[in-house]
Amino acid sequence: MSLDQDTTLPLDHLVSTMEARLDAWRVLNAANRAWAATGAATGDETAKQAVEHQLRCLSSLEEFYAFPGRQFMGSLAELVAEGDAAAAARLSARLSAALLSKSYHNNPGEWDSDESSLDNADRLPPALNGNGGDKHRPYFEVLVVTPTPQTKWTEVSREMRRLRRPQDPFVYELVIVGSFEDAALGAILNPAIEAVVVFDGFHFASQHDVPLLHRFLEAHVPPGVADLTSEAMTPALVRMLKNLRPELDIYLLSDRKVEEMAANPELACVRRVFYEVEEPLEIHLSILDGINDRYETPYFDNLKKYSQRPMGTFHALPVARGKSIFKSNWIRDMGEFYGLNLFLAESSATTGGLDSLLEPTGNIKTAQDKAARAFGADHAFFVTNGTSTSNKIVEQALLHPGDIVLVDRNCHKSHHYGMVLAGARPVYLEAYPMMEYSMYGGVPLRTIKKAMLDLKAEGKLDRVRMLLLTNCTFDGHVYNTRQVMEECLAIKPDLIFLWDEAWFGFARFSPFFRQRTAMGAATLIKRAMAGSDYRSALEAQHREVGVDLDPADARLLDRRLVPDPDRMRVRVYQTNSTHKSMSALRQGSMILVCDQDFHHVEEAFHEAIFTHTSTSPNLQIIASLDIARRQMELEGYEMVMKATQLALIIRSEVNRHPLVSKYFRVLDLGDMVPAEFRRTGMESLTGTDWTKAIESIWNDEFVLDPTRLTLVCGSAGFDGTEFKGMLAEKYDIQINKTSRNSILLQTNINNTRSDVAHLMKVLVDIATGIEERLAAGGEPAVAAFRGRVAGLMKDVPDMPNFSRFHDHFREDTGSATSEGDIRSAFYLAYDEGSCEHVKLNSREIDRRLKSGPELVSASFVIPYPPGFPIMVPGQVITTETIEFMRKLDVKEIHGYQASRGLKLLTPKALAVQPVMRIEVA
Ligand SMILES: *Cc1c(COP(=O)(O)O)cnc(C)c1O
Repeated sequence: MSLDQDTTLPLDHLVSTMEARLDAWRVLNAANRAWAATGAATGDETAKQAVEHQLRCLSSLEEFYAFPGRQFMGSLAELVAEGDAAAAARLSARLSAALLSKSYHNNPGEWDSDESSLDNADRLPPALNGNGGDKHRPYFEVLVVTPTPQTKWTEVSREMRRLRRPQDPFVYELVIVGSFEDAALGAILNPAIEAVVVFDGFHFASQHDVPLLHRFLEAHVPPGVADLTSEAMTPALVRMLKNLRPELDIYLLSDRKVEEMAANPELACVRRVFYEVEEPLEIHLSILDGINDRYETPYFDNLKKYSQRPMGTFHALPVARGKSIFKSNWIRDMGEFYGLNLFLAESSATTGGLDSLLEPTGNIKTAQDKAARAFGADHAFFVTNGTSTSNKIVEQALLHPGDIVLVDRNCHKSHHYGMVLAGARPVYLEAYPMMEYSMYGGVPLRTIKKAMLDLKAEGKLDRVRMLLLTNCTFDGHVYNTRQVMEECLAIKPDLIFLWDEAWFGFARFSPFFRQRTAMGAATLIKRAMAGSDYRSALEAQHREVGVDLDPADARLLDRRLVPDPDRMRVRVYQTNSTHKSMSALRQGSMILVCDQDFHHVEEAFHEAIFTHTSTSPNLQIIASLDIARRQMELEGYEMVMKATQLALIIRSEVNRHPLVSKYFRVLDLGDMVPAEFRRTGMESLTGTDWTKAIESIWNDEFVLDPTRLTLVCGSAGFDGTEFKGMLAEKYDIQINKTSRNSILLQTNINNTRSDVAHLMKVLVDIATGIEERLAAGGEPAVAAFRGRVAGLMKDVPDMPNFSRFHDHFREDTGSATSEGDIRSAFYLAYDEGSCEHVKLNSREIDRRLKSGPELVSASFVIPYPPGFPIMVPGQVITTETIEFMRKLDVKEIHGYQASRGLKLLTPKALAVQPVMRIEVA
């Protein structure tokens, strides 16, 4: 069977397969209905042909799903062939309804022959409909890759089904394929696949012709796999599947020496190797066990048990067990609102099976280990105070006073405070600006390399400890994490990386973006380090630019630098706000560690946890982190792909809608990332050229996280804050952040197609309103509107760069590098006598800007939006900063009170000779 060339089925659109599948069913239903309504009666063959065509397309796609499966697809084809239009229409409508509602999960296996089984599945509530049991059993599918001839596949499925036992905690169906390529397609297309069973002896080529798949496979498969013997192909298949979806359990069945296979390091990620004649029941039990390993949430499971035990509490925390609430005269509604379990699950005990977050040895430890596995890290640490705290923990643990940190000036405020606490010296790096939207992109790699080479030239490279960047940025810019780290390690082999992935934790579960996460890149770098790639590239580099990189050599900035595998250390940290992109309660955050030298810092790391962690961490947050991990390991792939897909739909709907696009636009890759950072020339996220998209994701310096959508509203005459307020008050749409002329929308694993529809309806509504107002107001209204739009879109204040630290906070004032002692500046401001306030619009400001003494900020000043500090303690304030502040029309400015004015360090305080405050480690 092969796909027709003219098929409308976008198998090529790997990201949108789920929606595409449902769409294809909708098309089939429509064709069937049309045929049943008119065609069949009039003998019109074209209506029937349309059905046949669509059915053919769909059938090849459906090979990768257990339901409706061969039987139903066969019945449908038969009805069509027999010309029974009404029955075909009825069956296809019921099948697609079952797909949509996933009702077939409830009695798997019973639907493979009998149409009436669909009735049962539709009618019974899921909880009552498990195979004989009365408990909902999660359903999944298992991919089987086998040389067994296709004619026997149905029997294989039946045989596995016979092994089901009432006490099985889960239930599954098989999807059987015969080739390497079809295995890849199955893993990509079918998110319900949770495990793969590979029988030795399958062949390579798919029967389907999918160009993108080949492109995709090229990157995940060593060349020449197609020509390998079938036995040698197995390790390549395993690696490819793990690259696509690392969470999948993989089992091997072989009649070769299984002991040898089990010992093969290439197959280390296989969960179990079986000798082919072994009991099928063993395989069945192993599959269930593998799922259970992901399903188990050690902390949450135990908390549930704990809450059900009768317990007299004599510790603090009166709400535990809820008696002070449910018996209260006045606060009983709290209990009614939150429900009893919340209080039963509250405790301040760390015994009785409740582990301690501060010193985990039991189920919190196990839960963290599972999280490390799920997110591809060596270690994971749960944090219950948000990533604000995670960042401070990492910074305190790794930075000595006096260490230099290269840091994006626009990073989250927790980092600036983290550096104050640690006594680190920030070298602020400038991201590229997007002036017309009052926002910043990412920090170009060239800028980072330049800063490092400058520090090397000044003899300070030894003191550079860390590079700290936000990935992705608030607005969705995603770094090429691998390239950034490799090139930095070429300059300084032991540099530590902290990637703040507050928003990007979910990306682990996207096969497109995983490699651009901190942990994904760290894994790739470790793999490359073990191979020979670096070594040969390094030799070329030595020949060309020498062994010891000369900071004066301008070629280094443009050359891709290669690290030395014998000297480099992989030391990567990631923090993520699990609550921002996954199903964790607010403040649920994680620290992920992939550090070859972690043992050297482990003690300091624990001290830092003690410093920043409450001794009463919230149990529900810990449990939710455990649960978020379970969900992502079992359905993260599906959810993330869906969120991505919805984002792409919004992007194209808004930008193509004839009315909406007159006033609104979602910024595309080409708007957000200047051409110099897009070597592949990829311009748009909604173009159909996915081959190029994948190339861009692999190679370009910056790409865009599609789920973060910057919607320009200035062109509709609204400033960001105003538009945000309007969406919330009038339309019940909550959005993320705003800029002067845009708002940031975000899709996540919680969104559905109806949310998209609602959003579009609202935009149509607003656009219609504008049109009506302009029509009613005539010329003057149009002119006023144009003026307002021009003001918002063109008259945008220039954003000031970081100026410099005042000499008082610099150790060597002649230095060409910009690091400063932010901590001393911060604490100098604690002395009231060292501070003064000067009104923003006063003459004094202008006079001092012109003829001194210099204005030096005593505090952080952070306007929202844009949300980055335009002043940090000890920073010299320049004309650009003052102009920006004077033009700024936002109400929320942290660290600045208009009535008192700017808080400055007095010239007198700055004239005192600084004592060398902090020893350099
Ligand atoms: C939100 C955010 C943080 C802080 O995380 P919380 O979980 O809110 O404490 C840190 N960094 C970035 C980039 C963020 O967006």
